[in-house]
Amino acid sequence: MERSCERAIEVGLPAIAFTEHADWALVHEGQHSVDIAGYLDAVERCRAKFKGLRILTGVELGEPHWYPRETAEVLAAGPLDQVLGSIHCIRLDGELLDASQFRQREGIDFRGAVREYLRETLAMVESSQPFETLAHLDYPKRYWREGLPPYREQDYEAEIRAVLVAAARTGRVLEVNTTRGQTLCPDITVVRWWREVGGQAVQYGSDAHQPDKVAEGFQVATQMVEAAGFKPARDPMALWRR
Ligand SMILES: [Zn+2]
Repeated sequence: MERSCERAIEVGLPAIAFTEHADWALVHEGQHSVDIAGYLDAVERCRAKFKGLRILTGVELGEPHWYPRETAEVLAAGPLDQVLGSIHCIRLDGELLDASQFRQREGIDFRGAVREYLRETLAMVESSQPFETLAHLDYPKRYWREGLPPYREQDYEAEIRAVLVAAARTGRVLEVNTTRGQTLCPDITVVRWWREVGGQAVQYGSDAHQPDKVAEGFQVATQMVEAAGFKPARDPMALWRR
């Protein structure tokens, strides 16, 4: 975290948010949920060391509508500046499967799994779970299976629009996740739909996971978000508004 703060200063960011994963659907080796008290201590140490940088707290809640008790416990640990809601996993044949694992699964109906991912995202947005920002809406496209026709938003337009309408109705912010500079997630087609259905705000995340990836892809994200009709809100949360 300290190296990420150094990197944020180096690239000229006025603020950085650490949105630590809070996952309870554990599908990866060594995966565990956040130690929220330890996390908040680490943020305080960074704040003491980097006084000129605004350091925001946060979590990325994975499938919070499946884990309301655990979600409430994490959120009770203290006020957090940024609460993201995200789907990584779906239930497939009674088993939890992360979208990054779809392509390795023998005999999977890949596109059906992507539709199920979006259906689960809709269920999360329509739940009463208290998150403000919808993270990486089309996450499965990062792990597309070789040999399939490329991902096109239009192939899932009805499902994506349903998520966007629900997110706009509930006052959510749409995250543009830059995937450490590799992929805009979602890209301009979806951000334009977001504006069409009444979405008010967009926010960036680099999903850095490593200090050298902090803010990677923000320049191209800026061009895209502006082209979709949003304007900088001069807000420490890096919000863009219609
Ligand atoms: Zn995520």
